[in-house]
Amino acid sequence: MRVAVVFKDRCQPKRCHLECISFCPPQRTGTEVIWISQETGKAEISEETCIACGICVRKCPFDAIRIIGLPEELKEDLVHQYGKNAFRLFRLPVPKKGSVIGLLGPNGIGKTTAVGILSGETAPNLGHYRRKKPHWEEVLDYFKGTELHDYLEKISTGRLKAAIKPQYVDRLNKVYSGQARGLLQKIDTGGRLDSLMEPLGLASFLDRDIAQLSGGELQRVAIAATMLKDADVYFFDEPSSYLDIYQRLQVAKVIQGLAKEKYVVVVEHDLAVLDFLAETVYLMYGSEGAYGIIAEPRPVRTAINVYLGGYMKEENMRFRDREIRFESRPPRGDWKAETLVTFDELTKRYENFELTVRPGKLRKGEVVGVVGPNATGKTTFVKMLAGEETPTTGTVQGKWQVSYKPQYLESAYEGTVRELFMNAIGKKAESGYFDTEILEPLKVKGMLERDVSTLSGGELQRVAIALCLGRDADIYLIDEPSAYLDSNQRMEAAKTIRRIMEREARTGLIVDHDVYFIDMVSDSIMVFSGDPGRTGVGEGPFPMREGMNRFLRMVGITFRRDADTNRPRINKLDSRLDREQKSTGEYYYAIEEAANAS
Ligand code: ADP
Ligand code: ADP
Repeated sequence: MRVAVVFKDRCQPKRCHLECISFCPPQRTGTEVIWISQETGKAEISEETCIACGICVRKCPFDAIRIIGLPEELKEDLVHQYGKNAFRLFRLPVPKKGSVIGLLGPNGIGKTTAVGILSGETAPNLGHYRRKKPHWEEVLDYFKGTELHDYLEKISTGRLKAAIKPQYVDRLNKVYSGQARGLLQKIDTGGRLDSLMEPLGLASFLDRDIAQLSGGELQRVAIAATMLKDADVYFFDEPSSYLDIYQRLQVAKVIQGLAKEKYVVVVEHDLAVLDFLAETVYLMYGSEGAYGIIAEPRPVRTAINVYLGGYMKEENMRFRDREIRFESRPPRGDWKAETLVTFDELTKRYENFELTVRPGKLRKGEVVGVVGPNATGKTTFVKMLAGEETPTTGTVQGKWQVSYKPQYLESAYEGTVRELFMNAIGKKAESGYFDTEILEPLKVKGMLERDVSTLSGGELQRVAIALCLGRDADIYLIDEPSAYLDSNQRMEAAKTIRRIMEREARTGLIVDHDVYFIDMVSDSIMVFSGDPGRTGVGEGPFPMREGMNRFLRMVGITFRRDADTNRPRINKLDSRLDREQKSTGEYYYAIEEAANAS
């Protein structure tokens, strides 16, 4: 079976020389394969006459075409197709009562599409994309005799109701206004808000206006709003963004409680959290934006191990060149690199907030993972290093250029990604270095000609990281780079950041709450603690072992090691290992679990 996909948002026939048409071999000898549609103004490809030579894919200056050969049998499993030469989804996951079902796969592989179908929002068209009306009878007939039949029948007739927590919570304050409490009370017909106050930590901000809430607060309002709905099936798309690790686990526990009685499906890219949260996981693979296949369900431990390994044995499918490995021993802490900044004890007092930073130093070429709750003064600390804020007491010797990627990204820029880079970093945007060291590994190259306003959250994040790394500076402060990136993109981003810091002898301060990401990106750890919004204490940087131990002791979480892959796994609170590790003070490294444990 041949699949030809044209990314409509990239294809721009007015701005190219129609290379896809002029270089197509059958087209040159008179067989019509590819043309510009009168209707859409974009390229269209005939999957019947295309010979899959791949020339158009390589020639298109906007990287807008994919041609893929798939096994013929897969045709039977086509559940949904958005249009001619558009994305296709094969197979569906099966929600189950009593356990949290996870979906794990790259961005653009069809997770939202699958959720849309399972929630009854989209009727699957089984590939008949020209039909305007849903044909549920045909769909139910197609699923006859499968586990999904009853479920879809109930969803399609409204006997099962769905509630969805959307991915982009930072937009909620543009849609709603008024007190958060009022919004939640309106939804709370079952009187369950009280039971969520404590586990979601809602009390401190419920009386504030939604317009003033931070990302982490909006995330918890969105989770509460979803849980309070009177529904049978609950979907949570990335419940962890903007939350610190402690809050992530609190949310995980609340969602697990819900799953005891209801159907619950989650999409989550923080693998440590997914591991803790879900029981069964469906891996998804395919070609991003072109097609996605739902693999067989696996127990969460196996699913994540397979995902990190990059190879699915049962499906005989490799989806990454190399496996991703974790070190169970900390790297050696005896750094010889030159010191960039030394600071003695610093304090900064604002009207409602006071920060104390213990003495420390930052080295050239060092990537410092910065962990700790939001609003404990991480940004304030870096602003003092940059000379943008003067410490109330204490001194920073010298002044350093800082390049900053903020936590919340705006896509208000009018123009293409290339123009954005040109404006911000000038000639450097056209250098080979920027191209191969930054754009290529972050996979931003295919986006250069697109308007910034059309980028998805994950695309915008990669552009913002590229921009930050492309600026000339001594210190790079990158705030929550993992948000909206899929697990693979997180690892690529971590590697890219490290490489640039090492190669250019720069210093990176990376604020993030994804423990796997912090593990991969950091040489050392700086820990912030305190009472968010009131007081903050910054300490470090410490060597990895000490930093991880200090941080995890503060949040009361321990990790064991998976025997097959070495990856860190969160211990259940008060389990034997949890208690043992807490008593020896070893929160993160060097405890392996038995090979057959799950
Ligand atoms: P994920 O949630 O895994 O990131 P999605 O299900 O959102 O993936 O999208 C998969 C692909 O389907 C994307 O390439 C997206 O552009 C495409 N797509 C989503 N919705 C539509 C639509 N209404 N029309 C055409 N293409 C769509
Ligand atoms: P983090 O980076 O850890 O999220 P920040 O350093 O941004 O924390 O902020 C810490 C606290 O200081 C917050 O409560 C914030 O509202 C407050 N704050 C930051 N800058 C100012 C300022 N210029 N004036 C008054 N308060 C501020």
